[in-house]
Amino acid sequence: GVKHIESPINLARLVMENSVHVMLSGQGAEEFAKEQGVTLIENNLFDTPHRYEALIKAKQKLDKAKATSKAYQAAHKALPNNYKMGTVGAVALDKNGNLAAGTSTGGMTAKRYGRVGDAPVIGAGTFAENESCAVSATGHGEYFIRYNVASDICARVKYQGKTIADAGNDVINGVLKPIGGTGGVIIIDTKGNISLPFNTSGMYRASKSNTQATYVGIFNDE
Ligand code: ASP
Repeated sequence: GVKHIESPINLARLVMENSVHVMLSGQGAEEFAKEQGVTLIENNLFDTPHRYEALIKAKQKLDKAKATSKAYQAAHKALPNNYKMGTVGAVALDKNGNLAAGTSTGGMTAKRYGRVGDAPVIGAGTFAENESCAVSATGHGEYFIRYNVASDICARVKYQGKTIADAGNDVINGVLKPIGGTGGVIIIDTKGNISLPFNTSGMYRASKSNTQATYVGIFNDE
């Protein structure tokens, strides 16, 4: 909900370390940022030609369907995923056994003003606990919120003793895919195992570890 903060994740860390709260949003978050010495930037810093073109294309498709709200909803649903998504996430395990997850997003292209996605909702698009795993998600946020995806994966690891590969696959392909919830997650566990499941044709992803080969992938056959 902030508009003038270059790195909302760095601000989130200041909220964690220097306030008594877990979440701040909107104007109050920006006031807190100023108090913390964060420089506020112009909002157009985030403009990119690629995303701007995606927005124009999406709007053209949606404008045609404005006649009824049902048609608009259907047209919105039918927008290709690569128009809509572009979240960046990271999960990490440090040498002291601490797991962390962070997710940063501009949300989904052509969303309603005021819409809140899954990225900032702890348990939905982002979750980490030292007893199970760390998860960061990308995809159709409404589904990730409804199904509490990130914390559901960690709960399956913690309470069912599942591996992150099984728990991630169960939720991404078993729970989300049948109901049309497109997307994927990156997961790391307490031992440094890494799993990167998704149910779309591709997800930009990479991993680096001191025990496994560095990996970079886009499509699902890599
Ligand atoms: N999950 C994000 C959202 O729903 C979109 C994305 O992953 O690109 O806001």
